[in-house]
Amino acid sequence: MNNRIEHTRNIGIVAHIDAGKTTTTERVLYYTGINHKIGEVHEGTATMDWMEQEKERGITITSAATSVFWKTNDEEYKINIIDTPGHVDFTVEVERSLRILDGAVGIFCGVGGVEPQSETVWRQADKYSVPRISYINKLDRTGADFFNVLEDIEAKLHIVPVPLQLPLGEEDDFYGVINLLDGAAYTWDKESKGAIMQKIDIPEEMMETYLKWRNKLIEGVAEEDEVLFEKFLENPESISLSEIRAAIRKATLELKITPVFCGSSLKNIGVQPLLDGIVDYLPSPLDLPAIVGINPKTEIKESRKLITEEKFSALAFKIATDPFMGRMAFFRVYSGSLDAGSVVLNVNTGKKERIARIMQMHASKQIPLDRIEAGDIGAAVGFKQIRTGDSLTDLNHPILLDTIVFPEPVISIAVEPKVQDDVDKLSLSLDKLAEEDPTFTIRIDEETGQTIISGMGELHLDIIIDRLRREFNIECTKGRPQVAYKEAIKNTVRFREVYKKQSGGKGRFADILFEIEPPQNGEKGLEFINDTKGGSIPKEYIPSIKKGFENAMVNGPLAGYQIWGLKVRLLDGSTHPVDSDAMAFEAASVLGFREASKQANKTLLEPIMRLEVVTPEEYVGDISGDLNKRRGQLENIEGLNNGSQVIKAKAPMAHLFGYVTALRTITSGRATASMEFSHFAEIPESMLNEVLIKVRGY
Ligand code: GDP
Repeated sequence: MNNRIEHTRNIGIVAHIDAGKTTTTERVLYYTGINHKIGEVHEGTATMDWMEQEKERGITITSAATSVFWKTNDEEYKINIIDTPGHVDFTVEVERSLRILDGAVGIFCGVGGVEPQSETVWRQADKYSVPRISYINKLDRTGADFFNVLEDIEAKLHIVPVPLQLPLGEEDDFYGVINLLDGAAYTWDKESKGAIMQKIDIPEEMMETYLKWRNKLIEGVAEEDEVLFEKFLENPESISLSEIRAAIRKATLELKITPVFCGSSLKNIGVQPLLDGIVDYLPSPLDLPAIVGINPKTEIKESRKLITEEKFSALAFKIATDPFMGRMAFFRVYSGSLDAGSVVLNVNTGKKERIARIMQMHASKQIPLDRIEAGDIGAAVGFKQIRTGDSLTDLNHPILLDTIVFPEPVISIAVEPKVQDDVDKLSLSLDKLAEEDPTFTIRIDEETGQTIISGMGELHLDIIIDRLRREFNIECTKGRPQVAYKEAIKNTVRFREVYKKQSGGKGRFADILFEIEPPQNGEKGLEFINDTKGGSIPKEYIPSIKKGFENAMVNGPLAGYQIWGLKVRLLDGSTHPVDSDAMAFEAASVLGFREASKQANKTLLEPIMRLEVVTPEEYVGDISGDLNKRRGQLENIEGLNNGSQVIKAKAPMAHLFGYVTALRTITSGRATASMEFSHFAEIPESMLNEVLIKVRGY
């Protein structure tokens, strides 16, 4: 049984956009025998890009999973490839996929090297301790330099790159690789689109370079292991190939090194050794520690070993709607096994769900499975209610596995169906999309009745509107993108609310005295303290009072934005023997908060973004000047080996709309920028009125 787990690899590909992730994945699907034709990205037929607009945009957004089989060392391995999005608007999707995969391949462009976005993703992978091998792609391009990229990896990613290959030929003449372990060279047959790999002797003129790098490799690897180091000092040639491999594997799993491969996926060079590398150096689920989660009944930490003999536990990491299958939930099985047709517990909803069917994706085909076991990744059909990030477990052994905190949405846009009849359909469709994507939120503006959707960036919301059109046939008009503000109160207000209703029959009565104040350390959410004495308010009403404040926080008093954080101290109150009930107390706290907040000093909080700009040195002055005008704060300017400068800054989202276009103008298109949410901060007092007039329209 464990043999099967040992022969499984769950991997992701992390790369900067354009480094060649899609092209490489296509080659992998082709060589592992599933695709009959290589889909080229520019033709828009890449198999992994199965969402329509991804094809058009040429970027990969979703985290679907595909399984391939690869034979090496005379054994067959199953490699589950989890597609990780490369765009910075989707970093949460990247995090979620990093959470469920065991190893990753970092793809770098042989010309561009380590781009800022690869650094971001690499750091995220560090956070989840994901071992990585690296692949330097596009060595056929003019200006490609394998050794430069090695230096780049070492300098920027703070890990030791250990090349296991060297390129043969350069740029246009790049034609194969030298394998530093077996001392042979390999070339790829053009006729078979690279499916046939030929072993040749290392060319004479490369012998010296080969020996130099081979010695470096053996020495580097030996240093990681005492026994090997002894052997190395005595006689380096006495170290066997399997000992070298084992030492590389160990150092990779310990995150000390990243083995480096090279090739040109487009020219069909170097992909098969990369597959061998995935098997040889990336972990199987058995290499990993048990998974830890919280038992929701006891709130105590529990763990599950990653074996089939354990109780079933799994994490849903992606919800996707397939035109034929309907809603599919991709999940990773951590422990135990699941049979098609059986019932599991969704720990997050507390509901039992029957899993009608289990599938595995092989390129774009779905293969039905009777059973799925620990260590594997599959998709299930038949859920009534499931969201990305939900934990699925055995009915009697619940465990909550996910603890990912989502970044707050930073921009909002009003959407309206072009055809009035589509109003209900719009609301249903948006709910469906929100199930798939927890970083996207929907609210109805109380005053205007408009539907407002919020997300992590302009592209993120564009894609949602695009999907409404394609998948749900709803044409929308959209408003101008707006900053997604939050609201806050700045001082303490004490208030008494007496809620009385007398209309025929039974009346309603609730009386509460409370204080509202800003949260400690600017924390998110409601901190509710019950300071009532002597049972002035019976215990059973307290949860309703708390719920009332929670509901009231959704629409803030200034402009209807959510209140970011609030502390409420319930001090006293009274009841009526007949007319008091839970509903009356809930109403009292909602209305009480509204009145109390009128008396408070209030403000808006604005999202502040972390910004990284990479630019040739000559533009640093202009870019900094421009950022100043955008209320940006420069944090650091750092030179790169290639002469570029990296500017790190924080700036309010309000001044970053269209920033990429502006940057292009300033630098004639020579700089690139990436941004992500950092935190919420109070907007300057001098701006409050101006912003309020803008967002409220009066
Ligand atoms: P992704 O954004 O990382 O998925 O990158 P793609 O696979 O979409 O590749 C981006 C562009 O680079 C496409 O136009 C590819 O044809 C091209 N490309 C990918 N691999 C190579 C390569 O090895 N050599 C060259 N010259 N171009 C490549």
